[in-house]
Amino acid sequence: MRLCRGLLATARPLPSDVWQFGAGRPRVAVLEGVHGNEITGVEVVKALVEDFTHKGLGIREGQLTVAIGNPLAVAQNTRYIEEDLNRCFDGKSLETSELEKKRAAALSPYLEGLDVLLDLHATNKPSTPFARLPGPIEGRRQRFQVAEDLFLSSLPTSCQTVLWDPHELIAGGSMTDEFALRHAPDGWDGWDGSYGSYICLESGQASDRSSVDAIYLAVLQCLRKLQMLGPLGFEGRPGPGDKKPRAWRHFEIMEKFSLDHRGFEWTNGHGEYNFQVVPAGHVYGRKGQVELRAPEGKESYMVFPKVRNLWAEGRPLGWLARKLEPEEL
Ligand SMILES: [Zn+2]
Repeated sequence: MRLCRGLLATARPLPSDVWQFGAGRPRVAVLEGVHGNEITGVEVVKALVEDFTHKGLGIREGQLTVAIGNPLAVAQNTRYIEEDLNRCFDGKSLETSELEKKRAAALSPYLEGLDVLLDLHATNKPSTPFARLPGPIEGRRQRFQVAEDLFLSSLPTSCQTVLWDPHELIAGGSMTDEFALRHAPDGWDGWDGSYGSYICLESGQASDRSSVDAIYLAVLQCLRKLQMLGPLGFEGRPGPGDKKPRAWRHFEIMEKFSLDHRGFEWTNGHGEYNFQVVPAGHVYGRKGQVELRAPEGKESYMVFPKVRNLWAEGRPLGWLARKLEPEEL
């Protein structure tokens, strides 16, 4: 098998800040900087490009695409310039002058027909690391198992949380992983007769770079499991990833709440961090005189509570999730 190194000539010129190595299947993409202030992934992508371009790492089989999602936003260390790029992968953004929509249109072909997508993100408020997985309730156990086998099991054991959004309450299906799932290879049998895997990893708070090395190694481990790495693939690198068992917790987003003309304030100490517990029936916020109350029954969990500089009328302030019972997966 020929060892492919560096940039390969492709039929179409690559967009800026997109690199491709190898050809054929499996097709894997590693994205970062879809949000420009989430820098852990930037370091991972820099390391991948450096190692595949200059340090002898080679793709033996299949194709690896590595991309910085929103390079202008990365340069300005801001979430986005005109519009949240991770709300633009709805397949409708082809004819436009808006910066992020144009970028989504340019990146979309590289997210089609993928066997694996690893989209590296971080959160704006403190968070345990977690994976957000796309798709409907049906089949999610299988999708989780493939994701765990290929990537999640190689992450540090601090990552043992999975967030599902089967009703597409975060972005109406316009995020990278949702797009990739919709454009999966026919029958999702991309490799080894199994499902493809489309994973958004939230590595923790955006200012924390401590997980860069571990995520980088987990990405390499994923490529190794897909038998994509050439003979030099693991030379001088640590061996298999973290094999310790972990107690996965699964959550499902149930409702979102958005800013309107009444304004908003968090109450009772809520909105501080991801997966913060909101007891059943508790008031977690206030819009003017109207209290926002968690559902009765079981406790809820706050996810993606927005920092104040991201508040905008008509836009979400956060979401409430519930913990899934083991039999629900
Ligand atoms: Zn993000």
